[in-house]
Amino acid sequence: MLPHVDYVRAEGVAHALALLDRHGAGARLLAGGTDLLVDLRERRSAPALLVDISELDELAAIRAEDGALHIGAGVTVAALREDATVQAEFPALAEAARWFADYLTRNKATLGGNLANASPGADFLVPLLALDAAVTIAAAAGDRTVPLDQFLLGPRQTALGRGELLREVVLPRSAPAGQAYEKLGLKHGGAIAVVSCAVVMDVRAGRGARVRIVLGAAAPRPFRARAAEERLEGQPLSAERAEQAAALAAGAAQPISDVRGSAEYRRAMVQALVRRGIDAAQAAAVRS
Ligand SMILES: Cc1cc2nc3c(=O)[nH]c(=O)nc-3n(C[C@H](O)[C@H](O)[C@H](O)COP(=O)(O)OP(=O)(O)OC[C@H]3O[C@@H](n4cnc5c(N)ncnc54)[C@H](O)[C@@H]3O)c2cc1C
Repeated sequence: MLPHVDYVRAEGVAHALALLDRHGAGARLLAGGTDLLVDLRERRSAPALLVDISELDELAAIRAEDGALHIGAGVTVAALREDATVQAEFPALAEAARWFADYLTRNKATLGGNLANASPGADFLVPLLALDAAVTIAAAAGDRTVPLDQFLLGPRQTALGRGELLREVVLPRSAPAGQAYEKLGLKHGGAIAVVSCAVVMDVRAGRGARVRIVLGAAAPRPFRARAAEERLEGQPLSAERAEQAAALAAGAAQPISDVRGSAEYRRAMVQALVRRGIDAAQAAAVRS
C-alpha cells in the first residue's frame, strides 16, 4: 500500500517549477512513476506532494533544431523506440529503448525519469554518454544546459538542484555512423541490466575514429572506458586490437556482486559485450 501523499497535476512546466519552489524538499516530480511509485511503496522516499508532469505536451516532443535533436524529458520509452530520426541517426539509443523493460512499462516510463533517477544500470545513460548528449535543466531563474557527464554525479545523484526540472536531452546530429548498444539482462528483454555497454565510432581508412566506449552497471555510475577507446582511436582495426580494447574495458570496470551477478561474472561479461559491441559498431560504420 502507498503511504498518504498529496497530488497535483501540473498545468505546465512553469506551474511545476512554482510548485517545487513553494513546497521545497517535500515535493517530488512524478513522470511515469515506474521508479518513484516503487520507491514510495518500499518507503525509500516519503514526499508530502507529488507534482505530476506526465501529461505535459511541452515535455513530450522530439524536435530537430540547430543541428541537434531535442528529446523532451517526458518522451516515453515507447515513443522514443518508434521515432524515425532516433532510429536512423541514433541506433544505439533506439536499441536501448528496444530492450527496455516490457510493453506496459515502456508506455509509462520516460527518458527524463531514467536520467533523473540515475541508477548505475539505467539503460539510457549509457548510449547517451557515448553520443555526447547534454541536458537542459529548467528552473524559475531560467534554463541551463550541461553535458550529461557533468549532470551525472554518482549513483542516484545528479546535478538537479532543489526546484529544478529536467526539460530535455540535446543530441548533436553529427554522431558517428557506427553505433551499438549491448545489454545483458537476467531474461531476454524486460530486465534491468546486469551489465551493458555502448560503442560508438567511425571507421576512416580502416582506422577507428571518434571512438566512445561506455559501460553501464559496471561501476557506481556509467562511465567512459577511456583506455579502451584509446586502443582503437586512430589505429588500424583488427580482431586482436578489438580484443585488447575489450580487455581494457573489463579492467576499468568496478563491478559489485549482488542478486543479479557476481563482480567476477560482470567483469567477464563486460569484456564479452564490449567485444561484441566493437564488432557491431565497426560493421555499421563500414556499411554506412
Ligand atoms: C517492471 C520494471 C522494469 C524496468 N526495466 C527497466 C529497464 O529495462 N531499464 C531501465 O533503465 N530501467 C528500467 N526500469 C526503471 C524505470 O522504468 C526507468 O528508470 C524509467 O525510465 C523511469 O522513468 P519514469 O518516467 O517512470 O520516472 P518516475 O518514476 O516518474 O521518476 C523517477 C525519478 O525521476 C524524477 N523525475 C522524473 N521526471 C523528471 C524530470 N523531468 N525532471 C526532474 N526529475 C524527474 C522523479 O521525481 C523521480 O525521482 C524498470 C522499472 C520497472 C518497474
